[in-house]
Amino acid sequence: MSGALPVPAPAVFPETAPFWEATARGKLLLSRCEDCGAVIWYPRPLCPACGRPRVSWVEASGRGSVYSFTVVHRNAVDGYREAVPYVVAYVELEEGPRVLTNIVGCDPEAVTIGMPVSATFDDTGHGSALFRFRPA
Ligand SMILES: [Zn+2]
Repeated sequence: MSGALPVPAPAVFPETAPFWEATARGKLLLSRCEDCGAVIWYPRPLCPACGRPRVSWVEASGRGSVYSFTVVHRNAVDGYREAVPYVVAYVELEEGPRVLTNIVGCDPEAVTIGMPVSATFDDTGHGSALFRFRPA
């Protein structure tokens, strides 16, 4: 079991404020283009597929699977140094996007590619939470 990872507060900008406010309520939002239907990660006001600005928020299921991962055994940064070993992973969401995240709540050696995972939220104490994933 990895140690507790730090929970730094993100920089919140007007265009991403709804995303971060949702994380504080345990919800993972994705952007979706109203014109071409692309599901967009990371949140942004212009669709990267068609370039149009009609982007809305949709709530993700919070479910996905491990696409790729590595186990970090050394990190010189305060807070992370004490948290090793921990898992950095790309999780492929049910909705399609792959998000860079951590896998928590299990032994890092137990993580496998394709493992089903679900989102969990770590409160930053500043009106937002960091989403990570644990085995489903
Ligand atoms: Zn589009």
